[in-house]
Amino acid sequence: MKTKKVLIIEDEVSISDIIKFNLLKEGYEIETAYNGEEGLKKALNLNFDLVLLDIMLPHIDGFQVCRKIRESSNVPIIMLTAKEEEVDKVLGLELGADDYITKPFGMRELIARIKANIRRTEFSSDSNDSHSKITNYGNITIDMTKYEVRKNEKPLELTLREFELLKYLAEQENQVFSREQLLEEVWGYEYYGDIRTVDVTIRRLREKVEDDPGEPKYIMTKRGIGYYFRRP
Ligand code: CA
Repeated sequence: MKTKKVLIIEDEVSISDIIKFNLLKEGYEIETAYNGEEGLKKALNLNFDLVLLDIMLPHIDGFQVCRKIRESSNVPIIMLTAKEEEVDKVLGLELGADDYITKPFGMRELIARIKANIRRTEFSSDSNDSHSKITNYGNITIDMTKYEVRKNEKPLELTLREFELLKYLAEQENQVFSREQLLEEVWGYEYYGDIRTVDVTIRRLREKVEDDPGEPKYIMTKRGIGYYFRRP
């Protein structure tokens, strides 16, 4: 297996060092940046399998770095947030981050997230078709094993969470799920609390999947209850 390269953009040297130490031990190749400009430059010029991005950075903050990276790259981005930055998590997701993790976090949790987010890109770059499980829903095709979604044959650029949410709903079409259920099933227990995360991800998903996100044909709202997927 090819060594995975992770970029850590974090201005607090002690945090950066401890993440670096633990990821090196896990066999990752590490590059570090201690401010937004340096991080952005490295993210855009070197090839990474994943970017860990702190929000509070000097000069250019993590949100701007995230937005700039997304203009030209689909590399998985995990944002590092502090506890008091609850609102910021949602903003991070809106700007295209794949995931976020709240400080202080355990290394085991961080490494699990890194692995899950890298897995998405591995599946989608795997050209071996023999294990594909493809399901058609109208103009939308979901390849459950390759983490790939196509609309009218054109691949859609979804983040890991967007893909997992779409997959979860599509596999159980017409079944309505509450935000709390989706948070628990798609994000996992560590996300308890913020149901706005579900709404933001649904909105982003509609922008990519639907012809008219204001009049969805696939990802439906059941008023007062939650969301469901249907074939148009
Ligand atoms: Ca910081």
